[in-house]
Amino acid sequence: MKRIFLTSSIALLFLTSCLLFTPQAESTPEPIPPTSTPTVSPAPTDRSIFKDGLIPEYQSIVDELPHASIYEIKFIITDDMYHITGEEFVAYTNTETIPLNEIRFRLFSNILGGDMHVDEVFVNNEAIVPNYTLNDSVLNVPLKKALQPGESINLKMDFKLTVPQSVDLNYGVQAYYENVLTLAHAYPMIAVFDDEGWNAEIPPQSGDVTYADMSFFLVTVEAPKNVVLVGSGREISRQNTGSRQTVRYEAGPVRDFYLAASPDYKVISKEVNGVELRFYTRAKLKKGAESALEVAARSIEIFNQRYAPYPYTEMDFVSTPTLALGIEYPGMIAVTEWIIEPDNYLLEATVAHEIGHQWFYNLVGNDQLDEPWLDESLTQFATLQYFSDMYGEAGAQAFRAELEGRWAQVENQNIPIGLPVRDYTNAQYSGIIYGRGGLFFEALRGEMGNDHFDKFMQGYVKNNAWNIATTEIIKSVAEEYCACDLAPLFEKWIFP
Ligand SMILES: [Zn+2]
Repeated sequence: MKRIFLTSSIALLFLTSCLLFTPQAESTPEPIPPTSTPTVSPAPTDRSIFKDGLIPEYQSIVDELPHASIYEIKFIITDDMYHITGEEFVAYTNTETIPLNEIRFRLFSNILGGDMHVDEVFVNNEAIVPNYTLNDSVLNVPLKKALQPGESINLKMDFKLTVPQSVDLNYGVQAYYENVLTLAHAYPMIAVFDDEGWNAEIPPQSGDVTYADMSFFLVTVEAPKNVVLVGSGREISRQNTGSRQTVRYEAGPVRDFYLAASPDYKVISKEVNGVELRFYTRAKLKKGAESALEVAARSIEIFNQRYAPYPYTEMDFVSTPTLALGIEYPGMIAVTEWIIEPDNYLLEATVAHEIGHQWFYNLVGNDQLDEPWLDESLTQFATLQYFSDMYGEAGAQAFRAELEGRWAQVENQNIPIGLPVRDYTNAQYSGIIYGRGGLFFEALRGEMGNDHFDKFMQGYVKNNAWNIATTEIIKSVAEEYCACDLAPLFEKWIFP
């Protein structure tokens, strides 16, 4: 779902020039200092704290998701910035229609170049030794007694994480590099249980790695005092002790928790439609960051109007050394440093695209590995709508040319849009999902008519907000709004 311009010539140029960077000197690993034993208390049953991070019209969702998992996590980041110890508590409810004999967590660090380990998991205070599968990226917790539909359990575990000091894998989403720590998916995350059962696979390098249900997070981060910490959601407390700081966040409902940290971050901010926008970056990138916040503000106004209001009270950007142009997280966006400059077309398109993901990936979720078009292609189309609303037909034409150019890179082949990431080559993934897929929505609008199409987009977001959509769902919602048969169009563009 996330990054764009994957195989564009510009991205390739960058990858080449990236080789010229001097890798950071390997520092001698320092032993992890003894830390005070973190105490994660049981998650509160009162979830009202999460309402404060949502704009008023969404606050009732907190009461409407009583069975969404609640995570309470403590990260202790050592002074070397890449050794982390953690403690996690999860209250999990079986919302499926069948009993569950095990719970599966994703340990993404183990396939992102890092190392994460959990020795034992306490299930309702009883210790269970888990087992690992899928290159240690899945932690299976067998239950002594099956968890019945509607039944809840508490799971508690300690974890150790070593973060890679390179950005070689998956665009460097989880890395400590050039003084920036990026912690994407850096905690044991419960997999989605769907019609495939526990749905977990090893993600291809070209796409996004997660597929997650909406959850609530209370996260405490203990770190060196000299770094600026930026986390998903809202900061709710802060305390300094000696050379260390402790910051606490609440976030939810969200599909993930993201954290970035750097001693070099300065912040600039801006407000739009009741949302506080912040950009954390190096001082020398201030002008570009201001420009990015302008684009972000305009994007939120446009998408609020076109689709549905942005749900949270905050939206944070961080600059990182990622090899992607931009990557979306719930309420947060990482942007690669080299495009952060005023009036950079790549910056404008990237920011609008990543903001679009707040609607298509986060608010309306999807299986990003099996049906990447539902967030990527739709977000490319949202970016087209941004350029159209900002600059009229000339803007639309410019971004349409970008979509056409991508598709042309794979000779305009009629490769279906609705395939899993693993079925595309890198070039096809860029050309079909980011090019042809965006153009599909123009074809759909042509078939449905503008009025029906605009109402369909709103209906699709409204009906699937906080949930997970599928190809069948988007097709049936569209057919409902146009009162027409879209099977031939979907056969031509989407279905294998
Ligand atoms: Zn994207």
